[in-house]
Amino acid sequence: MKAVKFGGTSMSTAEAVLEVKRIIESDPSRRFVVVSAPGKAASENKVTDMLIEVAASKADVRVELFAAVRARFAKILDGIGLGGNALDAEFEKIESELPSASYDYTVSRGEYLTAIMLAKLLDYEFADAAEFVKFERGAYDDVHTEKLCATALGKCRRAVVPGFYGSDENGNIVTFSRGGSDVTGAIVARAAGASVYENYTDVDGFMTCDPRIVPHASVIDILTYRELRELAYMGANVLHPESIFPVRKANIPIHVLNTFNGSAHGTMIVPTEDLLGGKYRRNKKMPITAIAGRQHFFSLYIEKSMMNSEVGFMRKVLSSFERLGVSVEHVPSGIDSMTVVFSAVDGETCNALIDDIKKEVDPDHISLTTDMSLIAIVGHGMRSRPGTAARAIMRLSNAEINLRMIDQGASEINIILGVSDDDFARALIALNGEFEV
Ligand code: ASP
Repeated sequence: MKAVKFGGTSMSTAEAVLEVKRIIESDPSRRFVVVSAPGKAASENKVTDMLIEVAASKADVRVELFAAVRARFAKILDGIGLGGNALDAEFEKIESELPSASYDYTVSRGEYLTAIMLAKLLDYEFADAAEFVKFERGAYDDVHTEKLCATALGKCRRAVVPGFYGSDENGNIVTFSRGGSDVTGAIVARAAGASVYENYTDVDGFMTCDPRIVPHASVIDILTYRELRELAYMGANVLHPESIFPVRKANIPIHVLNTFNGSAHGTMIVPTEDLLGGKYRRNKKMPITAIAGRQHFFSLYIEKSMMNSEVGFMRKVLSSFERLGVSVEHVPSGIDSMTVVFSAVDGETCNALIDDIKKEVDPDHISLTTDMSLIAIVGHGMRSRPGTAARAIMRLSNAEINLRMIDQGASEINIILGVSDDDFARALIALNGEFEV
């Protein structure tokens, strides 16, 4: 049995919704469906963005602004043959509540209405996530949700579930962060005991490299969850980062597929490395699965003689970061020096950070670089295979690219290279040439 999630683009027009229907009905094992609200279409905005505008406006104009959302749904309802008035009762109820409705309630209505619409079209049950996706004091409550969701879905043969929201201990609607329907999809897949979580989106899958920089980049056929986390960190945002956790616990693979390209095989994301065999064998046998990068990091270089024998030196430096609320990304270190890499922050925070560190550890030298790019070379295949880092370094050196930092964790699943922002694109192209991902 499969749990299937369709993103906003897949629900954005009547044609897209009919394609979704065709996909679901082509495989009877697609019993549980999670949906996002309609996304961007031609000149129309994302429904969630329209609802954010409604929620942020004064009580007396909300219904008026909501009319555009209603018109958008009427058009889709008409186009899929349900008739533009099919959800009138739902709309009227929401409109009566809007003036005093909470922000999260208002913003979540896109998913709510979309799920009811698709349930009608498919003749599936509608299972409201408010009843079984639970939040406690604003934070998602996985333990409670797991039980409630399994019980609720256990009663349905086939159901459509709205993504993106649940409710708290008082029954008030609470939403996940943007893109959160991916998380709902994973929760539903686990509760339903699905063999796979199919995530239908509008791209063919995760790419081996950024196609804007490396035009011959291709779709990765198989990834592990760990590799995916590394790529997501570097900005590959096909899936919501938290969507992995519920299915990972239950060993359920995620299959990323494109609603609009049935011939693309998509990217299969498997829970553990030992599944990379048999059915999930990779098409290409290479040490590197993907290369991804992000620009605009800062790095702070701190030097002090005999630093390595000064107990607590690193802790003191890192506690300055903690005090100023700056999250640390990497800490490559030498005998008498350490470098702390972090995401760009404003000038005031930077100055405060440097002053604090000077006070804490009295360094011989401290300097800040503000144009650092990080590139991750990711792949289980590099483990226990000597030479991957050497090849990367040689390739950069041959391309006359200065390597500012290199960091490889003991897990040997990724190597992080730091270069200047100016060298970023050239470095990606060079590394791609070396590893031919
Ligand atoms: N509709 C919500 C958003 O635009 C949630 C989602 O699509 O997953 O972020």
